[in-house]
Amino acid sequence: MERNLPMKRVKIFFLCLIFLLTGILAAGSEIAAPEKPLTVAEATEFKATSRYAEVMAFIKELELRSPLIRVESLCVSTEGKDVPLIILGNPVPASPQALRRDKRGVIYIQANIHAGEVEGKEASLMLARDILLEEKPPYLDRLVILMAPIFNADGNEKISPENRPQQPGPEQGVGVRPNGQNLDLNRDSMKLESPEVRGLVRNVLLRWDPLLLVDCHTTDGAYHQEVVTYSWGVNPNGDSAIIAYQRDKMMPETEEILEKKYNTLAVAYGGFVDFRNPEKGWQTLEPQPRYVTNYMGLRNRLSILDENYVHADFKTRVMGNYSFLRAILDYCSAHLEEISGLVSEADRRTVLKGLNPSEKDLFSVEYELKTLKNPVVVHAYEVEIVQRGEGQRPQVRPTDKVKTYTIPYFSDYAGKRGVRFPYAYIINVPDPEIIAKLLQHGLTVDKLEEAVTLEVESFKLKELKTSELPYQGHHLNQVKGEYGLEKKEFPAGTFLVPTGQPLGNLAASLLEPESDDGLVVWNFFDRYVVSQWGRGFQVYPVYKLLQPVILVKEAVR
Ligand SMILES: [Zn+2]
Repeated sequence: MERNLPMKRVKIFFLCLIFLLTGILAAGSEIAAPEKPLTVAEATEFKATSRYAEVMAFIKELELRSPLIRVESLCVSTEGKDVPLIILGNPVPASPQALRRDKRGVIYIQANIHAGEVEGKEASLMLARDILLEEKPPYLDRLVILMAPIFNADGNEKISPENRPQQPGPEQGVGVRPNGQNLDLNRDSMKLESPEVRGLVRNVLLRWDPLLLVDCHTTDGAYHQEVVTYSWGVNPNGDSAIIAYQRDKMMPETEEILEKKYNTLAVAYGGFVDFRNPEKGWQTLEPQPRYVTNYMGLRNRLSILDENYVHADFKTRVMGNYSFLRAILDYCSAHLEEISGLVSEADRRTVLKGLNPSEKDLFSVEYELKTLKNPVVVHAYEVEIVQRGEGQRPQVRPTDKVKTYTIPYFSDYAGKRGVRFPYAYIINVPDPEIIAKLLQHGLTVDKLEEAVTLEVESFKLKELKTSELPYQGHHLNQVKGEYGLEKKEFPAGTFLVPTGQPLGNLAASLLEPESDDGLVVWNFFDRYVVSQWGRGFQVYPVYKLLQPVILVKEAVR
C-alpha cells in the first residue's frame, strides 16, 4: 500500500482545495446573501404571521442596515412586553424637539390593535424595510414616519388557527382581539384604561403630534371585490373642515392613487344597511370617539381607518394594506403643506371658539346619520338566501354573480340636538381620578386661586339608565336632565377646564353630561350623581361657564 501514499496525498490536497474553495464560495454567497430581510409572512409564503420576538428581530435587522431608523417605547404591555414605536426619517430626529424648525410632517401608522387582524403588522414592517433599503429612500425628504407595527403585543402572542375562523389564512393562525387586560383597545380612547392607548396618547400624540393617524384592521362583514376599505374620523364634534377635507378630497384622491398606481381596488368602509336588499345603501361605522380614528378628529388631527377585506386570502390582504399605506404616504407627501395648514387652522379655530363662545356654538349630543352627496360604488355579488333549520335565521350568501351597486352612502353624522358650548367647565369635586384622566388626554386644567361667585349653567339629572350587562368592564350610563342657570360660589382650589385650547372639542366630549362617550358614560361620576340617601339624583358636579370671565387661576401640572 506504500506506493499509493503519494496518490493519497494528492487526493487529500485536492479535497482540501475543494473545501477551501467551497468555503470561499460560501462566504462570498453569505455576503451577497439575502437582498433584504423577509417578514414572517413573506418567508412562509403567507402561511404565518410574526410573533413579538420576530417583530423585534426584524426591527433590529433594519437598525443594523440603516441609519434612518430609531426605536422608542410606546408602552409596556400588561404582560410586560415593550411595545416598539419605530421612527423613520432622513435624518431620523433624535426627539420631537429636533423637528421644531423642520418642515417635515409626522405621519403615524398603527397596526395590530386587534391582534387577530394582522395584515398591517406585516405590511408596515415590509414598508419600513422597503423605504429604508432603497438607494434614495422615498417620502423621507417630506415626512417623518412613525409606526407601531405590533400595538397589541399581548393579544398577538395568543396565536391560534382557531382565532377568526372566518378569515382565510394565515393557516398557522392569528392572535386575539383584546389586550392583556381583556379590553378592546379600539374602544379605549376616551377612558384610557389600557397601557397601550395611554401610551399612544402620551408617547405618540402628545410627544410627536402626528398630522395623521392610520389604524389598520380587517373587516368582518359584507362580501365585495374591493380588498381595501377605509373611513375617516366621523364624529361631528370634531373640526368640520377636517372631516370635509378627508371626505371630499383626500380619500377620493388616495383611492385613485391606489387604483391607478398600485392596481388595487378600494371602497369606503361599510356594510349593507340591509343584507337582503343591498340597494338600500351602505353604512359607515359608529361615531363615538372611543374608536381611535374618531378620537383623532376631536384632537383636530386627521385619521384613516383601514379595514382589509376579510374574505380575501392573506397575501392579497397584506399586499392591499401595503399598497394602501404607500398610496397614503404618496398623498401626504404631495399635500403636506395643505394638511399642516388645515390642522393649524383647526387648532386656531377651536381656541377662538372656546375663548368667546357664541350661542350658535353647539356641542352635538344627538346625531342623525345622513347620506353623502355622492353615492358609493360597491363591486359586490348578488346574494342568495338559504333557509336553515327551524328556529334559525336564514343565511344570506353571496353567489358568484358579480354586481356593481351604486347606492347611497350613510356616512355623515349631522348634529340633531346640540347644547351650549361653554367658555369653561368647572369641576366642583376635587376628584383626583377625574383630574388625572383629563391630564392624561393632554388637556389644560386650571385651579382657582381665589373663591369666586359665578353665573353658571347646571345640569340636574332626571333620569339615569345604566346598562345591565357590563361593556368593557363598565355599566354604561345614559342620562337625561334639565339645564338651568344659577349663581354659585366656587372655593379656591376648584378645578376648571377652559375650552379655549386646541383640545377644546375633546374637553366638551369628555365633560358634557349628555355626551354619548364622555366620563359620565364611563362611570367616572357615578358616586356624585346618585343620591346617597333616599331617592333621586344630584346635580351633575360639572358646571358650565358660558361667557368669558377673567379668573385668578393657575395651571395644574
Ligand atoms: Zn378591528
